Amino acid sequence: MTFKPLQGAPLLVVGAGIMGTGIAQVAAQAGHAVMLFDLREGAAAQAKAQLARSLDALAAKGKLSAQDVAGTLERIEPIPSLDAAASVRLVVEAVVEKLDVKRSLLRQLEGIVGGDCVLATNTSSISVTAIANGLQQPGRLVGMHFFNPVPLMRLVEVVSGLRTDAAVAQAVHSLAGSWGKVAVHARSTPGFIVNRIARPYYAETLALLQERSAEPALLDACLRAAGFRMGPCELMDLIGHDTNFAVTQSVFEANFFDKRFAPSLVQRELVDGGLLGRKSGRGFYDHAPGAVKPSVPAFEPMELPAETLLSVHGQGAVARRLSDTLAAAGRGFEPVPDSDWVGLEIDGAQLRLTDGRAASQVGAGEVAEVVVFDLPLSRDGGAALSWAPAVQAGAAWVEAAPRWLRALGFNAQRMADAPGLVVARTVAMLINEAADAVHQGVCDEAGADAAMKLGVNYPQGPFEWLHRWGAAPVAALLDALDAHYRGERYRVSPGLRMRAWQRGMVESQDCKGDVV
Ligand code: NAD
Repeated sequence: MTFKPLQGAPLLVVGAGIMGTGIAQVAAQAGHAVMLFDLREGAAAQAKAQLARSLDALAAKGKLSAQDVAGTLERIEPIPSLDAAASVRLVVEAVVEKLDVKRSLLRQLEGIVGGDCVLATNTSSISVTAIANGLQQPGRLVGMHFFNPVPLMRLVEVVSGLRTDAAVAQAVHSLAGSWGKVAVHARSTPGFIVNRIARPYYAETLALLQERSAEPALLDACLRAAGFRMGPCELMDLIGHDTNFAVTQSVFEANFFDKRFAPSLVQRELVDGGLLGRKSGRGFYDHAPGAVKPSVPAFEPMELPAETLLSVHGQGAVARRLSDTLAAAGRGFEPVPDSDWVGLEIDGAQLRLTDGRAASQVGAGEVAEVVVFDLPLSRDGGAALSWAPAVQAGAAWVEAAPRWLRALGFNAQRMADAPGLVVARTVAMLINEAADAVHQGVCDEAGADAAMKLGVNYPQGPFEWLHRWGAAPVAALLDALDAHYRGERYRVSPGLRMRAWQRGMVESQDCKGDVV
């Protein structure tokens, strides 16, 4: 079937809640005549009145012209009955997240609109294939998943179910582009792109909290230092633990209870206790007025300790950074580029970049005097970086190691000896999930990168990390975690494994270990 371009076409938004109102605003700002309908009497008119107040406030700040405000509002027409929308060419539904409600609404609409009208659903978690079941023309239903707040968030996931006509997905994709959005094609699978790939960002932190490896403030500080706008604990507090837990549960259930997606007892306890985050005044943090948020100690720069025999092990960005820092301080060192580990050897004791093994595992098999440190993704001096000593390490080395890390420019934060520490395991798991999504044809690499950067503000896309870090080191890190925990969570995706097997190719294209 051919569908005419949707640019400029009259459309109907059903559901005048937070999302529907945002979608109506964006469409009207792009010049569409927009009808707005809500089952609750008066709700569409109220939503328009509220929108008028927000647009006026933006105009008062000089962010919009009075003309734009008037034009946008003129184009939005609250309608009392769906029957008024017979001539629209696109419907976007943003009603409650219930399969039966969405299905019966869309069936009803098929009896009102013309045969060439595209139907789009803003569902965030329901299968588009399931919503289409029972429609006379299931091919015309597509997911158009906007992010909240719609006017500000640039990403739209264009979600195709089993029967979605490719021409419909393409028409909606190009329409979203004309609204100033970045549209990304996704296949309808649990969590689509963003809500699936983002799971480990929360799950790894929750797993570390469950093991009592670190406090929320440390985890947040380390991931913020890696470039994430918010740490996972503060972000879950903002989203609300009930909402975050529900999304995790829905992805878990939709994947037939694959343990990889298992929710956390830590979060369940917060939800059960009503500690929902900012909205209830308390989550991981106390959000009461005047409450002081805990933070990690500030960076204290140090001089490099003197009179020591130094060797820089390994290759890639971390080894280079250590070498450059020592050279800039006028310190001599022996390079050991072919070493099987990356880091600094100091009079026989080792400061190692994590390879996914606990420090104590290295200590048990190789050398007792060992401390591991996390993947430094930030080049900023003084950025928080976690470290952990092996149980075998002597007290003198455990005391000296963080001073060395500080002298090397890191705000060293001690945590328990958890394999993969904080950033390395989190980023490796995000890469793994993205590789899995691409392997299963949910999206392509560019789509995954764009979705994660625009949908959840990640500093880089998972494939940007992967191409710099290399598939083989990421898979090796996850294999080490898998060997430690012996569950399903750290199962390497076949998509990542295949890439790791192309090791020669991958390493010639990507710089080995060059993630920094
Ligand atoms: P909301 O509760 O703010 O609004 C839903 C509106 O739909 C309400 O005004 C309600 O009266 C109306 N409604 C319910 N049943 C209806 C029906 N049969 N016909 C017409 N109107 C009906 O919800 P929301 O947050 O705007 O979410 C709407 C949809 O968008 C859901 O599918 C949700 O999963 C999805 N979504 C939400 C977000 C978010 O952050 N809130 C993000 C992406 C997608």
